[in-house]
Amino acid sequence: MSKYIFVTGGVVSSVGKGITVASTGTILKSRQITVSVQKLDPYLNVDPGTMSPYQHGEVFVTQDGAETDLDLGNYERFMDVNLTAESNVTSGQIYSSVIARERRGDFLGGTIQVVPHVTTEIKDRFKKLAQHSQAEVILIEVGGTVGDIEGQPFLEAIRQMRNDVGPENVFYIHVTYLPYLSTTQELKTKPTQHSVNELRRIGIQPDVIICRSDYPISEDIKRKISLFCDVAPEAVIPLPTVPTIYEVPLILEEAGLGRLVVNKLNIKASPPDLTEWQGLVRCLKECQEPVKIALVGKYVELKDAYYSVRESLHHAALYHNRDLKLVWVQSEDLERDGENLLSSVQGIVVPGGFGIRGIEGMIKAAGYARRNRIPYLGLCLGMQVMVIEFARHVFNSNKANSTEFDPATPYPVIDLLPEQKSVKDMGGTMRLGDYPCHLVDGSRAARAYATTLVQERHRHRFEFNNEFRDRLEKAGMVYSGLSPDGRLVELSELADHPWMVGCQFHPEFLSRPTRPHPLFREFVNVAKDVLREGAQPPLPLAS
Ligand code: GLN
Repeated sequence: MSKYIFVTGGVVSSVGKGITVASTGTILKSRQITVSVQKLDPYLNVDPGTMSPYQHGEVFVTQDGAETDLDLGNYERFMDVNLTAESNVTSGQIYSSVIARERRGDFLGGTIQVVPHVTTEIKDRFKKLAQHSQAEVILIEVGGTVGDIEGQPFLEAIRQMRNDVGPENVFYIHVTYLPYLSTTQELKTKPTQHSVNELRRIGIQPDVIICRSDYPISEDIKRKISLFCDVAPEAVIPLPTVPTIYEVPLILEEAGLGRLVVNKLNIKASPPDLTEWQGLVRCLKECQEPVKIALVGKYVELKDAYYSVRESLHHAALYHNRDLKLVWVQSEDLERDGENLLSSVQGIVVPGGFGIRGIEGMIKAAGYARRNRIPYLGLCLGMQVMVIEFARHVFNSNKANSTEFDPATPYPVIDLLPEQKSVKDMGGTMRLGDYPCHLVDGSRAARAYATTLVQERHRHRFEFNNEFRDRLEKAGMVYSGLSPDGRLVELSELADHPWMVGCQFHPEFLSRPTRPHPLFREFVNVAKDVLREGAQPPLPLAS
């Protein structure tokens, strides 16, 4: 039978509860304990697929095509697991399933209530994940903060679990924040005391309190929290803000979290081995030589919108012992202020996206990369933009476009497939999750992957329009990855360019800290040798 670790948050959101959960998983895995993980999101959307990045940040796509919370990306990267739809549960899913069952008559005339019907549905999701994953430990993160109205049924469900599976099989971690008052120059514990009181009112006594803070936490403060919140002094674990999230597993291990969990849950475990993580963090701190990459998108003021892309670039830079200098370029600024925003970068990434805003700026970035022979990596929309820009150049017409942005374009180089044209609903109508891609021998992409067949994760509606394949191929576009039936272009690149590659899928979801994704790895490999800033200027191609 699986054991459960439940993680709640107190005081404020966005203090890194997801990273804490991911890191707890890492330290358990480092003891050869099998783990799986689930995120509970209290909002009423069925999934974040229809939410704006302003609301939600990145939508992380699992191999089975679920559109999920970005925390799942951190879980996958830290714990090196591939999760499924079962790892993200929202209130929207819970309520729609309870109501669907009510309509079917499953409750035999009963009154449907939050307790027990909604809480039972929630607990069933825990148990299903335990059963399907067969993991020894299931980590469950409750989204939001204790005290939120929407979160109540989830907290009630995790409270009930103590009796359902026995107190020796559950472990509660509460992640809080200690604010700093500059006038008195001290960290305050009162908000933590209040949030723990709120948890205890519901019936949950935390086993461990992890205290996030921007300042060092003294023994005095730890003792105070231990006394007022009724946890052992060693169970108050300080987690100060650190320059890299990849240091968090090392800090939690050092503070004894792994030992506390293993002892309370009575798990037989090997000694922890975090050598790989220690190496990673050492390298992160030691790498000095920069590699300067521009990320051209429309949500750059909101760094979470491109979370996995940023992490993948970090992984690739680390692999080459480089310090990633990421230049966030708002694509609308490129439209207005021109290409000088890109004048010193060694590589350009155009990530995924939807809608017309900022598209012309991204096309400009692709044109700049092509003419100046700057390495370019296009991710989904980034590939579409690269194709549009190349077509504009080849057909000598700035009318070439995707029908997503100009339905009347005379050169619809990116278009919906004929069978997609009747789709009306916006939710869940995309090509989602893993699809195979055959790599074409001798291409840059095939060289990067060093294999012939890969599975990559997708999230898009529009495709390369096959009507234009021959004409663009003759002009120098190489289709380096195709669906097994040859019908869909999955990867394209330019023959006459050091490294300009676009993929219709999202490789950023597969990169791991110590195993960068091959496309990111190769992109940074070529970019790192590009000389900019005062060095020989790259030779511009005649455009
Ligand atoms: N908007 C484009 C499409 O739907 C690209 C999507 C994406 O980048 N994820 O095909």
